Amino acid sequence: MKRSKVLIPQPRSRFLLVKCTVCGNEQVVFSHATFPARCLVCGNPLVEPTGGKAKIVGQLVRVLG
Ligand SMILES: [Zn+2]
Repeated sequence: MKRSKVLIPQPRSRFLLVKCTVCGNEQVVFSHATFPARCLVCGNPLVEPTGGKAKIVGQLVRVLG
C-alpha cells in the first residue's frame, strides 16, 4: 500500500459521529481512518483501521456530510 503524507479523502468517505460505549462521549471520526481513533475523554478505542473502511468499535450515532 502506498503511503502518503497528504490526506486525500476517498469519494465515499464520511465523517461519522461515534459514541464511546464506556463514557458516553460523542466524537467525530473519519470513516476511512488509517489510524486508530480513541475517545478523547477516557481513551477507549472508537475506530480500528482495516485498510479500507474503518471498523467502528464504539456506537455509531449518525453519519455527517
Ligand atoms: Zn470514552
